[in-house]
Amino acid sequence: MSRFKALRLSHFLPSSLLLCAGIAAASLNTLNEFFTSLFNVLPTLLLTLGGAFCLIYARQRELFLLLVVYLAYFVLDTQADYYRAHGQARSDAALVFQLCSLLLPLLYGLYAAWLERTHLLRDLIARAAVLLAVGAVALALARRYPDAVLAWLAQIRWPTLQAEWMSMIQPAYPLFLLAFAVLLVQYLHQPRPLHAAQLLGLPGLCWMLPKTFLLAHGLNLMSSQVMLILVAAVAHEAYQMAFRDELTGLPGRRALNERLPRLGRNYVIAMADIDHFKQFNDTHGHDVGDQVLRVVASQLRKVGGGGKAFRFGGEEFTLVFSGKSLEECRPHLETVRQAIEAYSVQLRDQGSRPQDDRCGRQRRAGVAASRVSVTVSIGVAEKESDQRTPEEVLKAADQALYTAKAAGRNCVRVHGQNCRGAVRVATTSA
Ligand code: GH3
Ligand code: MG
Ligand code: MG
Repeated sequence: MSRFKALRLSHFLPSSLLLCAGIAAASLNTLNEFFTSLFNVLPTLLLTLGGAFCLIYARQRELFLLLVVYLAYFVLDTQADYYRAHGQARSDAALVFQLCSLLLPLLYGLYAAWLERTHLLRDLIARAAVLLAVGAVALALARRYPDAVLAWLAQIRWPTLQAEWMSMIQPAYPLFLLAFAVLLVQYLHQPRPLHAAQLLGLPGLCWMLPKTFLLAHGLNLMSSQVMLILVAAVAHEAYQMAFRDELTGLPGRRALNERLPRLGRNYVIAMADIDHFKQFNDTHGHDVGDQVLRVVASQLRKVGGGGKAFRFGGEEFTLVFSGKSLEECRPHLETVRQAIEAYSVQLRDQGSRPQDDRCGRQRRAGVAASRVSVTVSIGVAEKESDQRTPEEVLKAADQALYTAKAAGRNCVRVHGQNCRGAVRVATTSA
């Protein structure tokens, strides 16, 4: 269930839009001169610019995916150009097309699922070696035994499954399905924009191949769109790396710095800090500390009143309420403080993980699990007429946070005003 929760619309939205736009534009069949010229050069442009971008960000996987899509485009475009110029297909058109419909899903699936683990250069060499080996074998066989290879490719292996609409060889369909299943599992395992883009690129290619000779711009357009989907996903992840905190998933300090100057005239800033977190880390270890940081972040993310949570750094978080007054925000801050206090995180002994779910359930109900909870102190400040910059308001909220700590922690303190609740770093056995 948690896997499906992680499935995010934002991961799929840009790719889906590009895919739909590609299908719609390719189906038009006639494009004006500008777009025709654009789509004639776009695949090459995307390979060079996108490839350079992938190299800079050390994304070998996407680099080779771009290369695979581009090679298929290039080989098929040569055939399509000949077909359009001479009114008939080249003698090797069927062989080239069927080889592409076999190798494209195979290589795309392989490169998309091949994680970047080793040293950058070694990884690049390994990927290039596979591409060269597969390409060389396919080329050699196609040159030496063209008829036998075509007959082998076109052979109908499963007559009952053969249908009228199938314009690719039979094995191409299970290969596309297999690659899709592998990439879907990969996305569910690691829900990232790149994995979503790789997944959606596949139906685009499956749609494109049969249209090679049928639609005037199907090949250029869809290969460009798939390459664009991949490059856009690399950019999306680069943006996330810069602006999102990896541990908690909240926007980070850089995102806060971008937000502050755009806050307008009225706003409230709150600083939240976990109480006695160092002691907590020392007692339970950094892994549990990280788990707790995620829990606190998830509670802060839910703050009401239009507040937006950022990870300021370490165990400190900033809440920004744009266009709000202190009176409007304070109940929401109190609610979130109470929610964090009430939330207890279940700990499991890492050294003795249950072997199966049943065993895990029994343990969770039993003695092996222990629960920990933390509290936060919150300092809050409203923009006053004499404060010129949001940084000054942030500083005022930070001062209020010190007051909250001095007042015994686990409370909300307003800047310029004079806790309730006591310190609580509770560790209780369930
Ligand atoms: P106070 O109640 O006064 O805030 O005390 P404190 O112990 O929370 O404050 P202090 O600033 O002394 O300690 C902050 C601790 O937060 C120190 C560091 O170990 C921990 N910390 C900072 N970032 C991380 C992180 O990303 N993961 C984990 N596990 N701990 C972190
Ligand atoms: Mg602290
Ligand atoms: Mg601190």
